[in-house]
Amino acid sequence: MIFNLQRYSTHDGPGIRTVIFLKGCSLSCVWCQNPESQLTKQEFLYDNRLCLQDCELCVKHSPNVFCKVKGELKIKRSKLDDQLIENMKYLCPSLALTVCGELYSVDEIMTVVDKDAPFYKRTDGGVTLSGGEPFMQPKLSQQILQRCKEHQYHTAVETCLHVPWKYIESSLPYIDLFLADLKHTDEKIFKAWTNGSAKRVLDNFRLLSKADKTIIVRVPLIQGFNADKQSIRSIVDFTVGEILTSEIHFLPYHTLGINKYKMLDKPYYAPTEPLNDNELIEYAMQYAKDKNLNVILRG
Ligand code: SF4
Repeated sequence: MIFNLQRYSTHDGPGIRTVIFLKGCSLSCVWCQNPESQLTKQEFLYDNRLCLQDCELCVKHSPNVFCKVKGELKIKRSKLDDQLIENMKYLCPSLALTVCGELYSVDEIMTVVDKDAPFYKRTDGGVTLSGGEPFMQPKLSQQILQRCKEHQYHTAVETCLHVPWKYIESSLPYIDLFLADLKHTDEKIFKAWTNGSAKRVLDNFRLLSKADKTIIVRVPLIQGFNADKQSIRSIVDFTVGEILTSEIHFLPYHTLGINKYKMLDKPYYAPTEPLNDNELIEYAMQYAKDKNLNVILRG
């Protein structure tokens, strides 16, 4: 299940890349800016700014799922199923209602990927798997990556590393670059903000390093979670001490995905302002530079 296939990307690895976004994640980070990526199944996104209100085609089609309450469209999401979503896929005339998630075969994905092969060659680009968490669909990830290597495309994976090691291991021979998140080293804080285990992530970082893979460590900086000097030091110290890498990227928190929570009827608990603490960002960069890491600040 894929939720986006983006061509000509320049932000997800070297050169011009095709990015394949796989649906499903084992974490539910409070600040996640792609909440539509978390479930493995299809979902409806509803943008009330685009809704024609009076048309009510969706209500007429499935009145037990769609209804109007005080003039507002409500979706009883627990009553949605795959068949209904499939049947209603193209129903909404204004695209207020769109489906997130599509089943693609590996051949279909490769047809898109192959179109951009000349760009990969010219720019030292390639193909990146992203998500969600790509390794939550280990077989699909492995098949895409293997096909890419058969075509000699450079391959990268953006991953939170929060999966059983065996899900990663099967793809190892076909991956040139890991863009791997290191969000926190503290088990309790990590659990509270992501509902996952820091230990699993740290263990996978150690195993990746042993496997001698090229890794870039990526650190989202989130106020209240890890945007403080102590957390930054522990993340950088772990990177230097345990991960075979020379590069770390800091990604200060932004709020570009907030509206998607509304579109999914989900509450948003993360800060509503971007991280604007330049002094702290400067501290993080300098601390990492002092440990001989190449540091990049990502917008
Ligand atoms: S079909 Fe689309 S435009 Fe019409 S009421 Fe439903 S969401 Fe709004």
